[in-house]
Amino acid sequence: GFKCGIVGLPNVGKSTIFNALTSAGAESANYPFCTIEPNVGIVSVPDSRLDELARIVKPQKVIPTTMEFVDIAGLVKGASQGEGLGNQFLGHIRQVDAIAHIVRCFDDDNVVHVDGSVDPVRDVDVIQTELNLSDLETVERRIQRGEKQARSGDKKLQAEIDVLQKVRACLDQGLPARRVQLDDEQWIILRDLHLITAKPVLYVANVSESDLDGAHPYVACLRGRAEEEKAEVVVICGSIESEVSELDGDEKKEFLAELGLAESGLDRMIRAGYDLLGLITYFTAGVKEVRAWTITRGTRAPGAAGVIHTDFEKGFIRAEVISYEDYVRVGGENKAKEKGLMRLEGKEYVVKDGDVMHFRFNV
Ligand code: GDP
Repeated sequence: GFKCGIVGLPNVGKSTIFNALTSAGAESANYPFCTIEPNVGIVSVPDSRLDELARIVKPQKVIPTTMEFVDIAGLVKGASQGEGLGNQFLGHIRQVDAIAHIVRCFDDDNVVHVDGSVDPVRDVDVIQTELNLSDLETVERRIQRGEKQARSGDKKLQAEIDVLQKVRACLDQGLPARRVQLDDEQWIILRDLHLITAKPVLYVANVSESDLDGAHPYVACLRGRAEEEKAEVVVICGSIESEVSELDGDEKKEFLAELGLAESGLDRMIRAGYDLLGLITYFTAGVKEVRAWTITRGTRAPGAAGVIHTDFEKGFIRAEVISYEDYVRVGGENKAKEKGLMRLEGKEYVVKDGDVMHFRFNV
């Protein structure tokens, strides 16, 4: 599955948000390092299109698609030098595909801040620095190893060293590896290096209950910082989310409506994480089940079929495709067929977000 790691300094609300996300029950306590092992939670990706499809098809089951969140604790100043749970932390963060960086934007005298005051930009920089230092170490090591081997005149190795040197220059300026200027081929090389700061990031402003509108100066500062790297900011309130996560259905809707919200902050955060990972959704819609499936943007029809079953990919013949908009507008598969809105697509077809698909395959 695709994993989004939750990182941030101690006491910014990581566990609170993670628990609300997954209702997994990891302990939330008012001291650093309370979550020692990384906690992995699987969450449903909210998608109102599923409800629309279910309304038309009336299936026995409706199955949303999922993604994973990993609560990664232990990042403190000096982590790259082994402070706190530094090395353990860095090992875990290397294994995620994208990063949700939780930043404290709430005042609360009862909740200790590791640096004595609330300052979102400083906090972001503390973490950024640790991750940069860790990557710098990795990059230096590879450059050294590569240069020894490169005497043999290996072109591929030389290409890797070129990328590494560019990344080193970028990290030396205090910028994350994701901001390095590379061509497409070089990006592929970079991706294989699994650097932490090359992973896409979104910032989550954890605000007080009274600041859900995102107008607080703390949030403005964080937005400014995020804009430098064109990263998204999601504003949520951890303590409200933890209340919301205990409600269901109508209760939840009412509670959110009282707060003037159309949906929970967590739903927004999950979707932002899904987008950040470059993921899109296609649907299958039958009377047994209406279901959402996850693929990466750019996946062709056989690859999309393979998410359901490898046999679907191996024996792929064609895909019957109706766009979500057409499907809902005309009221289902049969009407779409009548109106000529169902397309037959082959192996080269690049699946689009919202496609309602049916695969034909040989067994
Ligand atoms: P972590 O160390 O980043 O995992 O932080 P926790 O989730 O354990 O939260 C640390 C403390 O901050 C706990 O006492 C939480 O109840 C509190 N906290 C978390 N979110 C909020 C919030 O939105 N507002 C306030 N006032 N306190 C919060």
